Amino acid sequence: MNDFAYTAVDSLAGAVEAYSRSPGSMYLAGGTTMVDLLREGVFAPEAVVDISALPWREVRVDGEFTRIGAMVSNSEVAWNPAIKKMFPVVAEAILAGASGQIRNMASTGGNLLQRTRCPYYRDLTAPCNRRAPGSGCAALAGINRSHAILGGSEACIATHPSDFAVALTAVDARVRVAGSAGERDIPITDFYRQPGRTPEQETVLQPGELIAAVLLPHASAHGRSLYLKVRDRKSYEFALASAAVAAELNDGRWHRVRIALGGVGTVPWRSRAAEQLLEGERPRGELFAAAANAELAAARPRRHNAFKVPLAKRTLVAALERLADMS
Ligand code: SF4
Repeated sequence: MNDFAYTAVDSLAGAVEAYSRSPGSMYLAGGTTMVDLLREGVFAPEAVVDISALPWREVRVDGEFTRIGAMVSNSEVAWNPAIKKMFPVVAEAILAGASGQIRNMASTGGNLLQRTRCPYYRDLTAPCNRRAPGSGCAALAGINRSHAILGGSEACIATHPSDFAVALTAVDARVRVAGSAGERDIPITDFYRQPGRTPEQETVLQPGELIAAVLLPHASAHGRSLYLKVRDRKSYEFALASAAVAAELNDGRWHRVRIALGGVGTVPWRSRAAEQLLEGERPRGELFAAAANAELAAARPRRHNAFKVPLAKRTLVAALERLADMS
């Protein structure tokens, strides 16, 4: 691990000021990803600003939104009674990820900003445009079984790793970010960048900005929602494919259908083609298959991950079948 300056702060103003002292600064919250990457040399910042004492530790049901502070742990979100009641898909997605110990440490903001699990990203001997811009992408001609089939480019095909972010995408969450210019709210569907030619730019955060909170709109609250995740082993594993689904049933028809896919995209994959096919329709199997086919029509598999196309379709169909069976 490289030497770096360490500063602990307990206010937004202190964080922004400490960050601005060094252009190579990085923020540290729960540390469940960041510390590993510091140890492995993937990150070599001049300065680390510890923001874990910032007072953003509350889940608050407030008018039109439920607000989750950026320092609320993943466990606290998953077991919060209001989240479980209004946004079960969010609670289920968190509990499908990592381990109990990691969920206790990992922050809400940190989960959204966790880095890809592409093995070449952590292998300092391999070319990786995301870690070292312009160096190439070892995954294109390498082992790409776990990589993305949606949203990739010739610069990067890494999958987005967060289950939480997939569920947030399905409920139209907003990300509240804060920095020297004040606060702004960003729809989560606009927060992540597909890699294009600049995979090192993963989000629309500006230098020095940090996540202050996540806002869950009550207009998107669905008691009828769930998260289904398929992975190589039952626990402590990232998704090969996952589906976050939500819908209301009125007069036997589905309304306000919301779908996002995980494990298959370079960003949490909002599935509007599938949603449009299901909106206002009576839930039935052949329609589920048509929705899955429509959403995966743009898939571009690579040498080792063609299996993800039928897997993602089956995962989505199974999630929709479970949703239809909910009383
Ligand atoms: Fe790096 Fe992305 Fe290629 Fe993985 S897929 S080696 S993260 S550029």
